[in-house]
Amino acid sequence: MRCFSARKRISPFIDGELRPGEVKVLEAHLAGCPNCAAIFDEMAGARSLFAGLERFPAPHGFSTRVMAAIQEQPEVGTRWNPVFARFAGAAALALAIAAGIFSGGILTGALGPRHDPAKETVVASLSLDVFEASPPESLGKAYLASTKENR
Ligand SMILES: [Zn+2]
Repeated sequence: MRCFSARKRISPFIDGELRPGEVKVLEAHLAGCPNCAAIFDEMAGARSLFAGLERFPAPHGFSTRVMAAIQEQPEVGTRWNPVFARFAGAAALALAIAAGIFSGGILTGALGPRHDPAKETVVASLSLDVFEASPPESLGKAYLASTKENR
């Protein structure tokens, strides 16, 4: 085992997180490497220093206040996946276009093969042909009528 690998394993070794095979290899390295052994002694000493400190109980209601403060935090970001949100926008646009095509087809009768006189009347009323330049009963028509008479 090289020193780099040994030093990565010192802390897990102190915490008892290494497998027995790793422990044996590390112990062998520490026995033959004074530099790594010194690092191990320092880390183990710090751990025993913290382990020997007096423990204080948390104040009453501490965990409840912490959890409440966490829940009050605004959520960062959105639950929507940005890729899905983009897809949803495109899908909504496609749906709107399809609805427009469908309703346009209904109005013009393009979707139905059978001829419905009422539908044709509606379609004809939507045509620009029914609009005259000067519709009857309009001021324009009255004006044109008066100019024709005066000619
Ligand atoms: Zn070493």
